[in-house]
Amino acid sequence: MSIHRTHGVVLRTRKLRESSKIVIFFTRDFGKISAVAKGGYKPKSKFGSSLELFTRSAIIFYKKENRELHTLSHSEVLSPYENLKKDVIKVAYASVVGEMVERLLPAEEPNKKIYQLLINVLKQIDLANRNQLEVILSSYELKLLHLIGYGPQLRSCVRCGHEISQGAWFGLISGGLLCKRCHDHDLNAVSLSDRALALLRELETESVESLRGKYSSDRYSREVSNLLNSFVRSQVGETANIKSLDFLERIRDVSVE
Ligand SMILES: [Zn+2]
Repeated sequence: MSIHRTHGVVLRTRKLRESSKIVIFFTRDFGKISAVAKGGYKPKSKFGSSLELFTRSAIIFYKKENRELHTLSHSEVLSPYENLKKDVIKVAYASVVGEMVERLLPAEEPNKKIYQLLINVLKQIDLANRNQLEVILSSYELKLLHLIGYGPQLRSCVRCGHEISQGAWFGLISGGLLCKRCHDHDLNAVSLSDRALALLRELETESVESLRGKYSSDRYSREVSNLLNSFVRSQVGETANIKSLDFLERIRDVSVE
């Protein structure tokens, strides 16, 4: 058994026996880990609010070799993301962010770029207005997909290599743009408006921090969002169905500021 200190974001929790909690963290130094917080469900637990969903906390845990479930000994809040937790729509967006990391990444494989992306996105969701959430999530999806090797090709036709500036199609199975001549080869290709293509390319390269000042929801951000959600489902859906995406699509229009 060895003792470790790191920082981590709470991705999911569940009850274990009477009063203990199993917490899945995405950590800076160890990737995705599961740990038992003994007494974590007690009203006056020593862990306080540090194990609430999406909280970023400083943690100390005992790692048992060859075991998947470790023991949490200490945890304290670094970033509470209180605005996020108070808003059901923000929680729905953050749930997709967390579930994608939880389902698409293997356990205990450190990835500092993904950890940094995760905390940048949660911070932006915390600070955003509701009408900025859609582009933040789309940009996150693109960036995460690239980091795990599923990133779509958005510059030229994936089939013939032709550069595309307008009249593009997007091949959900092919994994990127298709030109007018090639789109028939992917039965799941969808036509893309020129404005949506431009937005997709911007969201791929813009830093997450800069999005709130530049974009808000409109019909093109919705087109991009629907496309990326379909792409996530077609690329990774069979092995990792992202349930919170279905929920988000049902409630996201309930109230937009
Ligand atoms: Zn082509």
